[in-house]
Formats: sequence, C-alpha cells, structure tokens
Amino acid sequence: MSIPNTPYKIYLEENEIPKFWYNVRADMKTKPAPLLNPGTLKPMTAEDLAPVFCEELVAQELNDTDREIPIPQEIQDFYKMYRPSPLTHAVFLEKALDTPAHIYYKFEGNNTSGSHKLNSAIAQAYYAKKQGLKGVTTETGAGQWGTALSMACAFFGLDCRVYMVKVSYEQKPFRREVMRTYGAAVTPSPSDTTEIGRKILAEHPGTTGSLGCAISEAVEAAVSNEGYRYVLGSVLNQVLLHQSVIGLETQAALKKYGIKPDVIIGCAGGGSNLGGLISPFMGEKLRGEADYDIIAVEPASCPSLTRGRFVYDFCDTGMVTPLAKMYTLGHDFIPSANHAGGLRYHGMSPILSQLYHDGYMRAVSVEQTSVFKAAEMFARTEGILPAPESSHAIRAAIDEALKCRETGEEKTIVFGLTGTGYFDMVAYEQFNNGTMRDYIPTDADLEKGFASIPKIDL
Ligand SMILES: *Cc1c(COP(=O)(O)O)cnc(C)c1O
Repeated sequence: MSIPNTPYKIYLEENEIPKFWYNVRADMKTKPAPLLNPGTLKPMTAEDLAPVFCEELVAQELNDTDREIPIPQEIQDFYKMYRPSPLTHAVFLEKALDTPAHIYYKFEGNNTSGSHKLNSAIAQAYYAKKQGLKGVTTETGAGQWGTALSMACAFFGLDCRVYMVKVSYEQKPFRREVMRTYGAAVTPSPSDTTEIGRKILAEHPGTTGSLGCAISEAVEAAVSNEGYRYVLGSVLNQVLLHQSVIGLETQAALKKYGIKPDVIIGCAGGGSNLGGLISPFMGEKLRGEADYDIIAVEPASCPSLTRGRFVYDFCDTGMVTPLAKMYTLGHDFIPSANHAGGLRYHGMSPILSQLYHDGYMRAVSVEQTSVFKAAEMFARTEGILPAPESSHAIRAAIDEALKCRETGEEKTIVFGLTGTGYFDMVAYEQFNNGTMRDYIPTDADLEKGFASIPKIDL
C-alpha cells in the first residue's frame, strides 16, 4: 500500500475538535453486561447509582443506545487549551527500525497532568459543578488521574479530595505537590479517615496500599459527605465515552490524508485510553464497514486480559462497589512491583472485556525491561520521554513494525502515546542502572487472586 506524503505532525484545526463523544455501545451487538448491585444481584438502576455518581454521568453510564452524545460547550472550550492533540508520523523511529511499516502515534501528554486522563476529568468535574455539588472524591495510583482531576476541579471551583495509594504518596512527592498546587486535598491510603481504611489498616498493618483499597475509601468519603460524589478515572463506560475524543480526532486526522490504519495499539490498565482511541474504529468494524487489527497491551505482571477470567467481580478491594462483568484477576490480586502504576488494576473495562471476549480485538502482555528498552529507543529517536504505561504500546508497535521488516509488509500502525514520564525517573534510574527486574506471576499466584472472585450464581 502506498502512503501519501504526510507532514511529520498532523494537526487538526481548533474547529475540528469533536463536538460529540462517540458511544461504541450503540454499535455493539452484545452489550457489556450491566453493573450489579452486590446485595440483590440485580442490575444497578439510576436510583442505585445516584448517591455515588453525578446524575448526568449516571445517565451516560447506563446509555447503551445513543451513538453520539453532545459535548457541552464549556467542555469544548476547556479542550481547546490542549486539544486537538497531534498525530505524529514516527519517521525517525521507522528509520531506526529499518521497517517498511508506517507508524503514527497520537500524543496525549501535552498538558500539565501529562496524560489523557484530563479528557474525562474535565467532563466529570463539569457535571458535578452543573449539579451544584460541593466537591468530588477519588483515588489515584501513580498520580496521573489525581493530577488531572485537581486541574479540572480548580477550573470549575470544586473541592477535590484524593486518596493516593500510600506507596506512591511516599515515592512521588512531586506528583502530590502538583495536586496540592491545584487545590486538592491528598490523603495517603489506607488512612484512618474512613471506616474501610481503618479496617484495612487493622487487618494489614504496614500495608503500602493498592488502587482497589483507595477506591473503597474514596467511595465511602463520597457517600458519607453531603454534597460530594465519587469520580473514577478509568474502567467505567462514561470514561471510555469521554476518551472517545482521542479516537475521533485520530480518525479525522487520518482521513485528512487518506491514511487507512491496519493495526491500532494501546496500553490497557482499566481500558480508558485504549477504549477511547479504538472506539470509532471499532464502530466501523462492528458495522462491517472496515476491519482493523486492534491490540491491547498489558504488563506481564498484571495480565487481566491475557490470563484473567471473564466473570463478575468487585471493582475494589473493600467490596463497596457494584459488581462488574469483566476480565479480572480477582479484586484481592496485588500485582508485584511494576513501574507502570497506571496499569496495575485487577480488572478491565466491561466494554473492552466484552469486545475482547467476542473476538473483536486481541491482547498481548509484555515484560517491563523490554518495555523500557522500547521507551529508551523512542525517547532517543522521537524525542518524547514516554510514561512507562505508554511505553507498553510503544513496545507492541515496535514489535509489529519488526514483523513487517521480516515479511516486507507495508502495514500502517497507529498507537496511543498516552503520556510523559517525568515523574517516573526512579523507574528509568533502575532501568539505566540495570537493576530492573521482570515479575511474572505464576499460575499459583493467580489462583490466590481468583479465589477472591465472588461465587455468585446468575
Ligand atoms: C492511567 C494511565 C494509563 C492507563 O489507564 P487506562 O484507563 O487503561 O487508559 C495509561 N497511560 C497513562 C499515561 C496513564 O496515566
């Protein structure tokens, strides 16, 4: 296939920023399974969800039918601060790989939070403000989501309370200070400020925390404080919806130059950037208009798609959330040390889980030293210092391009470069010093996590 000459960076015009989010559920023949109330095992209704989430976000969460959801003007205006994001033709990387493949990446790290998470944070803060709430609570692992949310809350004058996984709180003081600069209150989790936090501390003294545990605390803080709601940076249907802005811009930029991708790649933690990037392309695939090879990339240390089970499980360790049907390693699964903090979640978006289960996409897992090798090569050729999470997608894109070198195929590969790695220099230091190790859980390790999956009969 011959590719027209494209500029190194393909920018859209400001007026080409999408005015609608695309809801891929509308085109799915098998809809993602509904969230279940863990008490009754009945699907969660809008009334069930209202104490936890903002009204408008509940409606988006449950909306399986509307293909296009208008983006409110205030959010469109905020998007203009850092969007459209560039789609870059990775000519220097291609050259270094000596591949006939054409590689493009959509860069979402061009805002202070350093990742795509701001796309949903601003939407969630907007709806909270519109509902007249005082503030929102959330958890953050590596800190990207907490940073994005504190930026969004500062913009709309909302109070922002962040429960940050204790190990990150201690290891990433600068992330914490960015959040505080934007006005957020940051608490290391588990903490003694919630009932569930006190319980976890009593059962596991000295624990450094986990994302699932921080979620439990943030949910409790939301439902026990008047005028507060809980917000989540990934996994949920509404988050994938907001992130579709990534895919819609990518689609528009590619169309502008008549480029048809063959392979679309994204890293997968809870699935929001990947879901957002692929949504419009997946829509074409679901409607039978086009075909793409879509690849989710996850860490070998936290392999929910490649080694997990497709069952109902809790979204958090403390079992305060609804049950979601998803690929999961069990809500008690605690991944071994891995520097891609944003990919250490035990579950996966129910939308992506269903699409993967139905064979519309595939998944690969990669080990962290090979991920950092890819990151290093990318930094040295394309200039951007990538986040460890994003570097999973780089690894897979490089592997696909190397396959093309073997076969001589001129495939067009598009991948999502979700963010920058400036706060991850401890990880880079270990890699540079040669002390980084790979951790792959054994089947026996995984069994321990699977044992925590609730045994429910549906
Ligand atoms: C949070 C994060 C991810 C993973 O989250 P998803 O919801 O799977 O997209 C990936 N990259 C970066 C830079 C992140 O901050």
